[in-house]
Amino acid sequence: MGVKLLFLDIETAPILMTSWSMRSPEASAVWVERDTFILMFSYKWAHEKQVRTVCLPDFPRYKRSKFDDKDLCGVLHHLMDEADIICAHNGDAFDIKKVNSRLIVNGFGKPSPFKTIDTLKIARSAFKFDSAKLDNIGRYLSEGRKIPNTGADLWRGCVEGDLKSWETMRRYGKQDTALLERVYHRLKSWAPNHPNLNLYKEYRDRVGCPTCESTNTQRRGIAVKQAYKYYRFQCRDCGSWFTGMKV
Ligand SMILES: [Zn+2]
Repeated sequence: MGVKLLFLDIETAPILMTSWSMRSPEASAVWVERDTFILMFSYKWAHEKQVRTVCLPDFPRYKRSKFDDKDLCGVLHHLMDEADIICAHNGDAFDIKKVNSRLIVNGFGKPSPFKTIDTLKIARSAFKFDSAKLDNIGRYLSEGRKIPNTGADLWRGCVEGDLKSWETMRRYGKQDTALLERVYHRLKSWAPNHPNLNLYKEYRDRVGCPTCESTNTQRRGIAVKQAYKYYRFQCRDCGSWFTGMKV
């Protein structure tokens, strides 16, 4: 068993609050009726085929409260605990922090440490796409699109317990994570600091590409660093460049 790489996408419910104004700068909460919570998440292990979704109605607790994400957070906590690396689009700024805040509020401890890969960060560090949204990157790279959704109506339907909306949300989440994985594979060789997947192997006879573990690599030139020169390699599968022994 090599690296446990988890692709993850979460969907949250909006805050329910009162306001004296509907206009942007003045609109602020007079009081909060209900805080945000996680509606659903979709995930896929890199070593498995299937994208899975976990939604609030999957839990018995949903019958008592449509807004209680404790059991859902329990499943998330377990997955994070298992993962060596979690990949999400804008995951470093949003998904992982949002999950963390729901974990601590629901009384869970810190999951065991994992590394993260944020496809939004890769997109912004190496490219100047017109838009760095997952949907648009998917389109630019011909890897597919997100499923169009009815936006606020869909979220409202789920918050209000409409089962049809939940089915749509599930399909939407599934497609998001499938698209995330495809976009990740297209972008990974451009990542400025991709984790070295070789280090997660139990043993190895030949070191493969640090980004994808392929042993289909080629020595191509010399990399000159601060103090020394190194043999430089390129992966023939994913296109990553990496360095080997000192020259
Ligand atoms: Zn590779």
